[in-house]
Amino acid sequence: MDFSETPRMREIHALAREFLAREVHPLEPRLLHEGFGAVEPLLAERRVRAKQTGLFSAHMPEEYGGGGLSLLELAGLGEELGRSPVGHYVFNLQAPDAGNMELLLAHGSAEQRERFLRPLVAGEIRSCFTMSEPELAGSNPTRIATVATRDGAAWVIRGHKWFASSADGAAFAICMAATAPEETDPHRRASLLIVPTDTPGFELVGNLSVMGHRGSGWASHGEVAYHGARVPRENLLGEEGDGFRLAQERLGPGRIHHCMRWIGICERALDLLCRRAVERELAPGRPLAAQQMVQQWVAESRAEIHGARLMVLHAAWRIEREGAAAAREEIALIKFTVARTLQRVLDRALQTHGALGMTDDTPLAWWWAHERAARIYDGADEVHIESVARRILRGYGLAAR
Ligand SMILES: Cc1cc2nc3c(=O)[nH]c(=O)nc-3n(C[C@H](O)[C@H](O)[C@H](O)COP(=O)(O)OP(=O)(O)OC[C@H]3O[C@@H](n4cnc5c(N)ncnc54)[C@H](O)[C@@H]3O)c2cc1C
Repeated sequence: MDFSETPRMREIHALAREFLAREVHPLEPRLLHEGFGAVEPLLAERRVRAKQTGLFSAHMPEEYGGGGLSLLELAGLGEELGRSPVGHYVFNLQAPDAGNMELLLAHGSAEQRERFLRPLVAGEIRSCFTMSEPELAGSNPTRIATVATRDGAAWVIRGHKWFASSADGAAFAICMAATAPEETDPHRRASLLIVPTDTPGFELVGNLSVMGHRGSGWASHGEVAYHGARVPRENLLGEEGDGFRLAQERLGPGRIHHCMRWIGICERALDLLCRRAVERELAPGRPLAAQQMVQQWVAESRAEIHGARLMVLHAAWRIEREGAAAAREEIALIKFTVARTLQRVLDRALQTHGALGMTDDTPLAWWWAHERAARIYDGADEVHIESVARRILRGYGLAAR
């Protein structure tokens, strides 16, 4: 495996870092103190300028107006953009749109791509993904209470969803619904349907309050109700019964995006930790950085970030060569490893800042509030830990379930 950076990768890193420094980091104090809504119009201007870099929607092919980057190139870009809470948003690489674009590109019909993918890649609209339900454990996504029934040339959807990230302002939702609830194979019961949010019967009940933040627009998580929302048959994404498979597939490259973003957060947190440690003096001439405990945090963080990055790049490299199915174990490993690294590094940075870390004068508290969920979304860590352990132990004779 070759980890050497190509000239193109170096160019991407430099371009993204310079753009964030000039256009995005200066907006962060307002974002952190006043919320996403306060900076949304300014971010809209930055998104226009980001388009001129050629890295807007960088994960999409050029024929759809994207940047045409490889997964490894994208991994590097994702790390750079992760250094700001809105870096991905400015470059139209934010969840859940990035994953929805991948899904539409891989499985959308020609008509679906024209109607939904093109404007998404252009950043003209946003979308959301409604799978999780408050009444059923999301860790077992084969259990879906939302049902879509056929009525002539339409699907009629009834159900209750929550944690639909960015549903506020989304032009359409991709909805996971049971289309064959009686099917004996639980993996074939559900399908994905595209639901424009102006469809009668689609209701954004409201944005959930998450760790004290209700958020708005892209930076929110919605509760959604489908009250008999009716969409044409051709809004089925992929084949009937493919919902579970496609939702799993969506998570493969998506995991690389999340993990590299988390590594970007770690790098920024470690940078803030080190700056604070050398500035803050316990006594004249005795900075925090002279304390062995702080030095240990610095060295351990560096080692953990380095290890996490290599793991993610390795997983991306394997996905590129052999596909997401072959890299299943690597994809599961990086999920819980990087989510935990993120939490440890952020915690050390917060601790080093003392009371300042609790304020909104640095992005640390924002990330603490918004990224604790990294161990829960995209599949709770325990689900991935269990799948890796079972796979290993099956090689030693543990019976498959
Ligand atoms: C910030 C955020 C954004 C999200 N965005 C979206 C979105 O855009 N669209 C969407 O559809 N969903 C979204 N989700 C929902 C997310 O996918 C679910 O929260 C996740 O799948 C876990 O499901 P659950 O919350 O029902 O937890 P449960 O399934 O109830 O699990 C609770 C806990 O049980 C433990 N557990 C579960 N399984 C096992 C096991 N096998 N072994 C041991 N312990 C286990 C874990 O610790 C887990 O955290 C989001 C969630 C969050 C927090």
